[in-house]
Amino acid sequence: MSERLTILMHSHAEPLLTFSWSVGYADRIGLIMTYKPPAERALRLALLKDVTGLVPRNEQWEALPEAWDAFQEARTLYNDLLGSEAAYLQTWYALRDKLSAYFASFDAEAFHKEHCHPNCPWDGQTIFARGRGLKVLDEQGGSDD
Ligand SMILES: [Zn+2]
Repeated sequence: MSERLTILMHSHAEPLLTFSWSVGYADRIGLIMTYKPPAERALRLALLKDVTGLVPRNEQWEALPEAWDAFQEARTLYNDLLGSEAAYLQTWYALRDKLSAYFASFDAEAFHKEHCHPNCPWDGQTIFARGRGLKVLDEQGGSDD
C-alpha cells in the first residue's frame, strides 16, 4: 500500500467516520481552513479527530489493504489506458463494500461516545444540530443517557 489509510471522525458535518488513503488529518485541516465558512471552522477543528489508531482491528479491517491494492492497480491500468473501466469500477465497488462491512462491524455510536468531546453536538445527522459556533461544546446536549 503506497498511501496510509486514515479514518477521521467528524471530517465532515454529516457522516461520523470517513476514510481516505489520500487526505490525512493535516490535509483535512487545510481544506477546512480554505473552504469552510469561517463561522464553522473552530467547531469543525475542535471535533475533527484522527481515529485511525483507535478504531477496532478485526477481520473486516484486515480485508481492507488487499481491496485497496486491487483498486489501485485497476485504477492505474485504467488511467494508463491499459485497463477497462468495468474492471476499475468493479474493484471500487468491492473496496466500498469492504469499507461498509468494516464500519458495520462495530458500534460506531459507542465508539463516538468513548472518543469524542463529552458535549459533542452530533445528533446522528450533523455536527451543527445546536449551532455552528464553538460555544455549543460548552452546552450539554439533549439526552444524558
Ligand atoms: Zn462527536
